[in-house]
Amino acid sequence: MEPKKVTLKKLHEVIEALQEGSEEPIGNYFYKGFRIQISKYRSSGTERYMRLYRKRRENGYCVRCGAKVTKKNPKTGKLYRLCEFHREITDRKS
Ligand SMILES: [Zn+2]
Repeated sequence: MEPKKVTLKKLHEVIEALQEGSEEPIGNYFYKGFRIQISKYRSSGTERYMRLYRKRRENGYCVRCGAKVTKKNPKTGKLYRLCEFHREITDRKS
């Protein structure tokens, strides 16, 4: 992940968010030639996966590969959880 270039003001916001216990500031920052990484120490693989899953789901990407999902489930009117490719291989298995 490329670090985001930030100002000192932004870094203060990051620290404030951390004080509140928010996971919002997780990421890489670039400040005056320094790379600052905010990540969860000893975060389990499951937690990381869940975060990725949620992010993809919210943004309408396939939860497996991150491809943009364009088709909606006619029953729910919502975007499918998986891309065409993964929907097909998942359907075939069941
Ligand atoms: Zn996919």
